[in-house]
Amino acid sequence: MALPISWLILIPMVLYILGILCCGVYYGMERLPRRSTKKANIYRCSECKVVYVDLRKVPLTRCPHCRCLNEAIKR
Ligand SMILES: [Zn+2]
Repeated sequence: MALPISWLILIPMVLYILGILCCGVYYGMERLPRRSTKKANIYRCSECKVVYVDLRKVPLTRCPHCRCLNEAIKR
């Protein structure tokens, strides 16, 4: 059985594209839960009582509303 010459180019190309797609799906699915489980600090402003979230690991952050410094709420 002789394959046409175009198949010898087409089959490896399709396998290569499928491999790239599988890698993309795998890393895309792996990244989603990691992003949602990342621990964020919750802050409540002592001046205006606004509650906000900050992903940085810093002891004090500025309130987005009144710019006053606040400590993270202990969990
Ligand atoms: Zn505030």
